[in-house]
Amino acid sequence: MKRLLAIALACAPMAASAAEQAPDLSLTRLDCGRAIEPWPLGAFDDTGGAADLKKAIVGSCYLVRHDERLMIWDTGIDPATSGDPDGGFLLDRTLVEQLAQLGVTPADIEFVGVSHYHYDHTGQAKAFPQATLLIGEEDWQAITHDPPLGNANPADFPAWIAGKAKVETFAGDKDVFGDRSVVILDMPGHTPGHHALLVRLPRTGPVLLTGDLAHFTENYEREGVPTFNTDRADTLASFDRFKKMAQNLGAKVVIQHEPADVARLPTFPEAAR
Ligand SMILES: [Zn+2]
Repeated sequence: MKRLLAIALACAPMAASAAEQAPDLSLTRLDCGRAIEPWPLGAFDDTGGAADLKKAIVGSCYLVRHDERLMIWDTGIDPATSGDPDGGFLLDRTLVEQLAQLGVTPADIEFVGVSHYHYDHTGQAKAFPQATLLIGEEDWQAITHDPPLGNANPADFPAWIAGKAKVETFAGDKDVFGDRSVVILDMPGHTPGHHALLVRLPRTGPVLLTGDLAHFTENYEREGVPTFNTDRADTLASFDRFKKMAQNLGAKVVIQHEPADVARLPTFPEAAR
């Protein structure tokens, strides 16, 4: 009995302090572009499942607020390429402009997380030259390889390549704030170091951001693999992990390029909490 009481007393303060320490966590969707015109999506499914599909896809970035610490997830296109038919996107407002509306300056951003090395996810990283860059190890290797691999664009990462800012790479998952509230998830296949993001919001519940594991709803449902992915088998294994996690956590899934999923989070400047 005495021993049980001792255990209870030992545990009680821990439980209380754990509750007190739960971070004030929020997730804000930021606009990172829209298709100039609907994209033909045939190449996004190597089994022909998207052959007749066209969609005005969007670009999405996110601000994660963990108490006073801030992280950006994905950085959209370079504003200088807005309207360029090769890129296929229009950008109405930069990340910096949107953050200013929230009272956030680039110097306030501690982490810039990038799901993978494609141009439509790395284009505004250089607006945060003091932030720690979080990126999959194999994608960072592709960016810094001479010549760069897989259309990776080193010009988007001048501060980190010059060693003026910190880069943290990882092969598996990355627990960003050390309390499991925000976890970058290993989801290779689109690129070798591709990652998705889990944000465990206190009221909304867990949210899973796909990165480019899937680009639109139909491909998420059918597990369509783009012809230009770096590894087909890895992509399917990542679909398996992502969907099982979504089910086990009861998570809200947001496909970052899917126009219909913009409404799954509050409209900027409101944040999900
Ligand atoms: Zn993309």
